[in-house]
Amino acid sequence: MSFRAPEGTHDILPEESPRWRRLEDASRSCFERFGYEEVRPPIFEYTQLFHKSSGETTDIVEKEMFTFGDPEDKAGTYSLRPELTPGTIRALVEGGLLAKKGVWKLWYLGPAFRKERPQKGRFRQFTQLGVEAVGSADPLVDAETMILFSEILKAAGVEAWELRINSIGCLQCRGGYREVLKNAVRPMLGTLCDNCKTRFERNVFRILDCKADAEKTRNLPPAIEHTCETCKAHMKAVEAALRDAAVSYRVDPRIVRGLDYYTRTVYEFSSSALGAQDALCGGGRYDTLVKDMGGSDVGSVGFAAGAERILLAMKGEAAARRPLDFFGVAVQEPQRAAVFRIVTDLRRAGLSGDMDYEGRSVKAQMRSANRSGARYAVLVGPDEAAQGRLKLKDMQAGTERAVTFDEAREILKGGKP
Ligand code: AMP
Repeated sequence: MSFRAPEGTHDILPEESPRWRRLEDASRSCFERFGYEEVRPPIFEYTQLFHKSSGETTDIVEKEMFTFGDPEDKAGTYSLRPELTPGTIRALVEGGLLAKKGVWKLWYLGPAFRKERPQKGRFRQFTQLGVEAVGSADPLVDAETMILFSEILKAAGVEAWELRINSIGCLQCRGGYREVLKNAVRPMLGTLCDNCKTRFERNVFRILDCKADAEKTRNLPPAIEHTCETCKAHMKAVEAALRDAAVSYRVDPRIVRGLDYYTRTVYEFSSSALGAQDALCGGGRYDTLVKDMGGSDVGSVGFAAGAERILLAMKGEAAARRPLDFFGVAVQEPQRAAVFRIVTDLRRAGLSGDMDYEGRSVKAQMRSANRSGARYAVLVGPDEAAQGRLKLKDMQAGTERAVTFDEAREILKGGKP
């Protein structure tokens, strides 16, 4: 019997992991440069959390969650997290963090799960990296999150990207816009797709980001013309900060984002290097979420990006794996224990090394040493074992010399022959 990974999941095998490491390291160092601190919420939460935060009418909550547990249970069922914002905000509120200081800037990187139809760039288990800046309504923070993501793309070597931004207004002005939009959509509703028809009643804004009906809905009134003066001023300030930072962007009235909790600024980074699933990162402001989740009434802004998609758009290969410092070789079987001891002691001294675990001939061991790219082979034969010494072979120069363990360690550390 043979096993396959579940549909929509993927393994990251050793030849691919250096690219992942490169992206993760680049992201971490950008987050830290911008003053963000790491948070690691659990992989699953009570299902109710996602209903309350992501929204009842959103695709990910309605159709895409992996839910388990006993529905009769008083605490309710659990769901694998389809995104990390709800867990992050819950953790912040539950931990009473906002009582300790006004603004928290948090970052995360980890798996998320959605029961979607798998295709290129769309998985059922994927990796999200993102930030939540909680406690400020300052438009500069909106801009900061976008500048931060553009820095991650730069550090990761992604060149072909586009940033589109929009404002969907606040709780005060959104009601008015909803009516304007409904009145404009009503006459054409019969010609729209089934999805749009359900969205009309439940979340009319989402008609704007329907790809199937994009042509028909192109001339609908844009949100930005119907937002209040405060929202307009906010958007202007975000744009000014982006221009100052020389981050290119385009205002796109079609960006509304799929989740319920957004207010004012919404944005999306996409890449022409990807296929149909071209979104690298989505973000925006959510000024009501923290309060809705039992916290204080504070503004917040954040983004979530898909690591797999960034990797698809990343140019070039990551640097090859760093070669080992040494490879231990036993000339004969009785010296294997001594070689193992030396290998362990050198590793404990901070050097990287390996040895043969297949009981192979000295010739075959030397071939492995070569293949490993190690700078030195550390050989022990009967003579060396008797004298408590070892032989160090420089794999590039082909020279060898007998040395004590301490001498070998110093040579290996200094990298000098
Ligand atoms: P969203 O909040 O749905 O916009 O997700 C944020 C980002 O996560 C997207 O821009 C994608 O890069 C990534 N993403 C979302 N869903 C998937 C998926 N099923 N597979 C891979 N990446 C995804």
